[in-house]
Amino acid sequence: MNPHYIRMHQDDNVAIVASDGGLAVGARFADGLVLRERVPQGHKLSLVDIACGAAVRRYNVVIGHALRDLPAGSWVHERVLQMPAARGLTDLPMATAQTPPLPPLAGYTFEGYRNRDGSVGTRNILAITTTVQCVAGVVDFAVQRIKAELLPLFLHVDDVVGLEHSYGCGVAIDAPDAIIPIRTLRNISLNPNFGGEVMVVSLGCEKLQPERLFPPGTITIADQRGVAAASAPLDVVCLQDDAHVGFMSMIDAVLRQARVHLERLNQRRRETCPAAELVVGVQCGGSDAFSGVTANPAVGFATDLLVRCGATVMFSEVTEVRDAIDQLTARAVTPEVAQALVREMAWYDRYLEKGQVDRSANTTPGNKQGGLSNIVEKAMGSIVKSGTAPISGVLAPGEKAHQRGLLYAATPASDFVCGTLQIAAGMNLHVFTTGRGTPYGLAPVPVIKVATRTELARRWHDLMDLDAGRIATGEASIADMGWELFRLMLEVASGRKTWAEHWKLHNALVLFNPAPVT
Ligand code: CA
Repeated sequence: MNPHYIRMHQDDNVAIVASDGGLAVGARFADGLVLRERVPQGHKLSLVDIACGAAVRRYNVVIGHALRDLPAGSWVHERVLQMPAARGLTDLPMATAQTPPLPPLAGYTFEGYRNRDGSVGTRNILAITTTVQCVAGVVDFAVQRIKAELLPLFLHVDDVVGLEHSYGCGVAIDAPDAIIPIRTLRNISLNPNFGGEVMVVSLGCEKLQPERLFPPGTITIADQRGVAAASAPLDVVCLQDDAHVGFMSMIDAVLRQARVHLERLNQRRRETCPAAELVVGVQCGGSDAFSGVTANPAVGFATDLLVRCGATVMFSEVTEVRDAIDQLTARAVTPEVAQALVREMAWYDRYLEKGQVDRSANTTPGNKQGGLSNIVEKAMGSIVKSGTAPISGVLAPGEKAHQRGLLYAATPASDFVCGTLQIAAGMNLHVFTTGRGTPYGLAPVPVIKVATRTELARRWHDLMDLDAGRIATGEASIADMGWELFRLMLEVASGRKTWAEHWKLHNALVLFNPAPVT
């Protein structure tokens, strides 16, 4: 293929090299531009002479100022760019975009599991909630036994998952921010993929007592019409109970309770549900300069399709949207929603300040090697996942979504922390884009992984579910890939396994605990 670059906006003065393997000095583009130095794939070149101190624009946004003269055809990387300061959180455009709602899209369905509370699962999984890390080894042991001895008897149940984490004791549980890990764990246990069957394994002496995790009324049982009628008694196996003599007594108790829940889960069958019942969390990880060119725009297109179907889509990752806050507040449906966005950004600014860093601590060595010079450039590529719909709601970390449309769920960008919080928000399907490559997976929810480059999709042919690199090579348009992803989402929601599910690749649940550890 002839040397070619990709420019995101007509006012940009840099573009990225699209050619596999990068381009050598002297490479000549169709418009006559000649490279003055070697530029790796995904890295930027100057399209015009950029003087020292001048603004460097990508996505029609200033991603930095030149630290030296960059004549046309120069390699523009993080060492020749001064990163701009973060935009302040005052004088933002609040709900000014006035984007009309997208036209509805009807007729798309998937086969899901309807729950008593009205939510819909895409998998039928028994979850065992733990109140504290102390019980993790015992629960692991019990889960292995359940998989070997019980699951084969309950053919309509997909899996059993121990919800293990590092929280629960040795923590300042009355600190204001402790609400975040506690409600996260509570809401994870109530994820639609677990069918409302909550069982808990507790140690006994821990700070996070089962009644604190699930206050009365949190778990309801439905009457025959499916209306929430009464508070269900909490099913807890407490390891320190005097009744347990020896380890096997604990294991037997967990298996006995698991069987009760498995019998109920096993009665469930998939039924046709409108695409509106999907709750999709979108995320990127191991990003490169192609993330914002191929995979994330395809996700953004699919996000619009889902919102048009009446579904819920969440985008997240505070440090990866912080530099685009003015675009997001403008897109909010009301000034109140815009204000909630500002509230979450301000909270996170203070959280980072406490650690004496700012949002620029986000970028990784791999991001930079992949061509992303700084967090501003990374953020512009990241927010593309949100598509074009108005932002109709904001969730603080660990909160559960109670409305449809495009939501901003405030989470750290860290892949497994973000994934954990999106599970708590009620996500029943996860879409994850990657440029550098990560074998990421979550046990409670299927994860569709989208590669930003064809080279990665080929090398990791049995880990990546979709190759969005075809957008860069011109084989597919963003709309083509968006539709392909949308259809794949409906299939996966209906039971088709992702590669991560095929290999059973699961990252740990990582609760976000901004409160002190004691
Ligand atoms: Ca991430």
